[in-house]
Amino acid sequence: MHEASLAGGVLKVLEDTARREGFVRLLELRLEVGQLAGVDIRALRFALESLALGTLLEGARVDIDHPPGQAWCMQCAQTVAIAQRGDACPACGGYQLQPTGGMELRIIDMRVSDN
Ligand SMILES: [Zn+2]
Repeated sequence: MHEASLAGGVLKVLEDTARREGFVRLLELRLEVGQLAGVDIRALRFALESLALGTLLEGARVDIDHPPGQAWCMQCAQTVAIAQRGDACPACGGYQLQPTGGMELRIIDMRVSDN
């Protein structure tokens, strides 16, 4: 259900943008959902598809990037890649990690049509 409300939020942003910029149809949408965002990509895609009917999202191609999580390891004093929160540092095996990236869900690009 989490993904359904996220999809609703994405659609709302798109509709606001469409009103502001005066386009009526979306051809392509590119989203970025970090691996630490706690979002199930398949569920999000499904939620977007079920919302799309009758909206500007209908028929649009949706691409979802899924960049890896990043965290700052205090022991290594460097940024390391992690697959999920709570993972150990791949370099030293420690758990003193501060997530620094891959936590967001955002719209990175869209291609629109105004007729
Ligand atoms: Zn480390």
